[in-house]
Amino acid sequence: MAKKKIYCPKCGSVNCTCHRKGLNWKLGCLGFLLFNIFGLFLARIGHNRLICRCNNCGKKWEM
Ligand SMILES: [Zn+2]
Repeated sequence: MAKKKIYCPKCGSVNCTCHRKGLNWKLGCLGFLLFNIFGLFLARIGHNRLICRCNNCGKKWEM
């Protein structure tokens, strides 16, 4: 997997920390109770998004 340089959209700093959001199991369980198997798709909401935070200005953004 190639690593891309991530820039802060606000100040342009490369001093950013990113982490990947995991599956939303709480929402998935709730969805499963309400909608059975279809509810499991709720767990995928927000999955695989990269959350980044700039260490320079404190801006947070999603990729
Ligand atoms: Zn910044």
